[in-house]
Amino acid sequence: METTKKISDYFGSNVFDDRVMKATLSAKVYSSLRRTIDEGAELDIRVANAVAEAMKAWAVAKGATHYTHWFQPLTGITAEKHDSFISPSPDGGVIMEFSGKELIKGEPDASSFPSGGLRATFEARGYTAWDPTSYAFIKGNTLCIPTAFCSYGGHALDKKTPLLRSMEALNKQALRILRLFGNDTARCVRSSVGPEQEYFLITKEMFEARPDLRFCGRTLVGARPQKGQEMDDHYFGVIKPRVAAYMADLNEELWKLGILAKTEHNEVAPAQHELAPIYTTTNIATDHNQLMMEIMQKVAAKHGLVCLLHEKPFAGVNGSGKHNNWSIATDSGQNLLSPGETPYENAQFLLFLCAVIKAVDDYQDLLRLSVATAGNDHRLGANEAPPAVISMFLGDELNAVLQAIENDTPYQGAAKQTMKLGVDVLPQFNRDTTDRNRTSPFAFTGNKFEFRMLGSSNSIACANIMLNSAVAESLKIYADRLEGAADFETALHDMIKKTIKDHKRIIFNGNGYDEAWIKEATEVRGLSNYRTTADCMPHLMDKKNVDMLTSHGVFTVEELKSRTEIMLENYCKTVTIEANTMINMTKTQIAPAVAHYASDLARDVSARKAVDDSLPCTRDRKLIARLSALADTIDARTEVLEQAMTALSGAEDVVSESVLIRDRVLVAMSELRIACDEAETITAKSYWPYPTYGDILFSVK
Ligand code: ADP
Ligand code: MG
Repeated sequence: METTKKISDYFGSNVFDDRVMKATLSAKVYSSLRRTIDEGAELDIRVANAVAEAMKAWAVAKGATHYTHWFQPLTGITAEKHDSFISPSPDGGVIMEFSGKELIKGEPDASSFPSGGLRATFEARGYTAWDPTSYAFIKGNTLCIPTAFCSYGGHALDKKTPLLRSMEALNKQALRILRLFGNDTARCVRSSVGPEQEYFLITKEMFEARPDLRFCGRTLVGARPQKGQEMDDHYFGVIKPRVAAYMADLNEELWKLGILAKTEHNEVAPAQHELAPIYTTTNIATDHNQLMMEIMQKVAAKHGLVCLLHEKPFAGVNGSGKHNNWSIATDSGQNLLSPGETPYENAQFLLFLCAVIKAVDDYQDLLRLSVATAGNDHRLGANEAPPAVISMFLGDELNAVLQAIENDTPYQGAAKQTMKLGVDVLPQFNRDTTDRNRTSPFAFTGNKFEFRMLGSSNSIACANIMLNSAVAESLKIYADRLEGAADFETALHDMIKKTIKDHKRIIFNGNGYDEAWIKEATEVRGLSNYRTTADCMPHLMDKKNVDMLTSHGVFTVEELKSRTEIMLENYCKTVTIEANTMINMTKTQIAPAVAHYASDLARDVSARKAVDDSLPCTRDRKLIARLSALADTIDARTEVLEQAMTALSGAEDVVSESVLIRDRVLVAMSELRIACDEAETITAKSYWPYPTYGDILFSVK
């Protein structure tokens, strides 16, 4: 048997991680760098020079020839510009050089990245700045240095900068609360995330044969397959050999980059799978998730496969999301969302729990818009998990505890006691009794919250920026109140009680798919229901949201304006590309295929009639009539779509354009699709220009 490589031998081998730093840096440089990483201490240029030198030597020894500042512009994907290490030497040769200055700061030509007017108002160029809290790594022949991306005016042009700021806001407010509970030792509090990534895997041949997949990442037409997910035989099913080989290769690539790929399984739909890493600090989890998505696609290509990260590649088949498992913990590893052993710990737990409840209720709109894209709109609120209405699931036990506190009644748990926080012993919550509710958009799962609305292709940065900031805001309000309280315990009890009373409308333990729930949520409870990106995105500029986000220093007003614009632009551009692709497909392939089949049938009928004029040819006649009618419908609806597209040029701004996209373009596309899909079901397969859903979904053996 071939000797297998031990994971522990190569895990993180392409990462300039703590082990490498310790081994390659002097003790003085190492401890100074550690202080920067752990406590955000200022970085001395001499330290930066020493780190750059060690990084370069390590990377060159591993075959790297280039370096790049790796950043996350608002396109949602990562960007890099490679520079080689070479520098001419006087003797006509080259030496490999990399300075502290080059490590700390880069100046990519930023003019092609979306800035939503920020650069126009401020300066023409942006710069990248090293984020030492996320380790540098080697990808291919390039040393990648994680960086933030800003304009010269200091405005964030990326997703990392506000994420780091939101983590700092949460850290600051959570520490205030911990001090109130007598914790003097915690040095920092950070949020952690474990994102579960869903994806589809199809063959390259199928992908190449579909212009909609190639240009849009999703199918724009396609009749439902004869067999879909109705048998529930794919979820956790046996992994096919070709998929298993892909997963093995993928894991190895991820492990080399220090990404803790852990769990993999088949998902609900045919050809759908999931990969979850072990959770880590939000900043690193975000970098890792971006890398993971990139590597998933690269490894697929090596296997003759294509990894689809789109939220809804196939209509009528389960879409792909990304569950964002989120918790907050101290530097010593205490999870603040974990019920504790002592009354004091439990009171503290309840306070943090309430902070999240209040945050989710007060900032439903921010959470909703943090996951809004044209792709994700096909999942949220479209008869699929989860709905566009945000609610929280806490489980029966925790719910009973909150009810007891709210009403000053005995808790009906094992111990039957009234709740006086910080004085009486709270019941032990059994982790396992926090029942799973798969339909809840935001579920408490024992010691963390699972935010399930993220789309599979979303950067997790946006959702976590909003989550961190909103929770920081709740904690700030609590800390302000408690720091000034004469009697801490009474104030604490009253505040928890008030939070439960004021915000219990957001708690819902039933079935989130139920139509009756959507009615109750919106009409009785007054929860918001923003079905599309066009509906929710403008609310980023609502006063309460701007006030909260700017007061914690997470965004400036200008940054918020620019982001609203960019997100709406993305929405419009995405749908515009889809509409143009669809028009092209119907005009150049679908309509001709239908017409071709109909005319061949007609020729066939006349040939037969030439032999025997009394033949009825009923089937053919009916079919020809239906095909001709459909060809006309397809033609007419394509025209309607074209008119909707023409109308876009009349929009005054991106907000009105997004409304036209929502109300006219997307509607015209779905009408057109209905006719195309019917045509597919009656056109002979040899005439149909594209592989069908059945062909695609069952293409990987
Ligand atoms: P599932 O939800 O599929 O049953 P788990 O609950 O074990 O699986 O975990 C799902 C994801 O949640 C994993 O990425 C895991 O690392 C992450 N996770 C577990 N504990 C925490 C935590 N305290 N904070 C953040 N993420 C966590
Ligand atoms: Mg999960």
